[in-house]
Amino acid sequence: MTNLEKLNQFTRRELQEDEVYLFDVILCDNNIDRDLECFSDKALEQMQELFVGKTGIFDHNLKSNNQTARIYDTELVTLPDKFTKDGRPLIALKAHAYMIRTDSNADFIREIDAGIKKEVSVSCCAERQICSICGADRHESACNHIVGKHYGEKYCYIILDNIQDAYEWSFVAVPAQPNAGVTKHFQHESMPQASPELNQLLSELELQMRTEVFQLCGKQSNGAISKALRTATDKMDLQELLHFKQMLLEEQKQDMSQAYVQLADFQQR
Ligand SMILES: [Zn+2]
Repeated sequence: MTNLEKLNQFTRRELQEDEVYLFDVILCDNNIDRDLECFSDKALEQMQELFVGKTGIFDHNLKSNNQTARIYDTELVTLPDKFTKDGRPLIALKAHAYMIRTDSNADFIREIDAGIKKEVSVSCCAERQICSICGADRHESACNHIVGKHYGEKYCYIILDNIQDAYEWSFVAVPAQPNAGVTKHFQHESMPQASPELNQLLSELELQMRTEVFQLCGKQSNGAISKALRTATDKMDLQELLHFKQMLLEEQKQDMSQAYVQLADFQQR
C-alpha cells in the first residue's frame, strides 16, 4: 500500500498527493526517562497499534487550532549504535503523519521542514508498573527496591507495561530533558471502589479544603490576583488543593520569618 492509500483510509474524501504534507515524528522510545521509567518492548508494540489514526495538535496554540495532523502509519525502529541507559539497544516508536496543506499552515510546514518543530509529547495509559529488579507490579505489591539505585549489576527503574490507551500527541516547545514529552497515566484497578458514604465525605472535605485554600490566598493577595486564585482553586481536586495549601503555608512561614528578621533589625536600632 502506498502512503497515499494508507492515509486515505482516514479521510472523508480521497486526497491527492499535492494536497497533503507528509512527515515523520518520533513518539517515544524504550529508554529510561527522567522519572526513571521506561516502556517495555510490549508497551511499544501496543502503542504502535494504538497511535494509528490518532490526531495531533500543535503547542496548544489557539491560532493553530485548525492545524491538526493525523498518524496514518507507525513503525518500531532500532537505532543503530544507540543504547538505553542500562545498555539495551534503543528502540523508538516512529509515526508517519500527514497534514492537509492550507494557506494558514504553510509557515508551520516550513518549521517542520527546517527541523524546528521536532519534539512531540504523547499521552498514554499504562496498566502495569514493574520493578526492574524483582518484577513486582507496584500496583499489586510494593517491593523494597528503590528506583535510581544499583543492586549489584542491575539498575532499579520502573518498566511501564500493558498500555491500555493512547490519547493524543502534540508538538511542544523543545524540552530540555530527553523524553520530557512523554505523559503517562496509570490505572489503579486494584484500588477498592469507594462507598457512597466515603465519596460524600471526600467531597465535603474537598469543599472545606477549597474554602481554606481560598482564605489563605486572600491573606496573601487582593483584588484581581485573589479572583484569579479563586478561579484556579475551583478547578483543583482534593490532592491538588492539599498540595497548594502546603505551598501557601510554606510561603506564609517564610514571609513570617522575614518579618521577624525585619523586626529584630528594627529593635536593634
Ligand atoms: Zn523490586
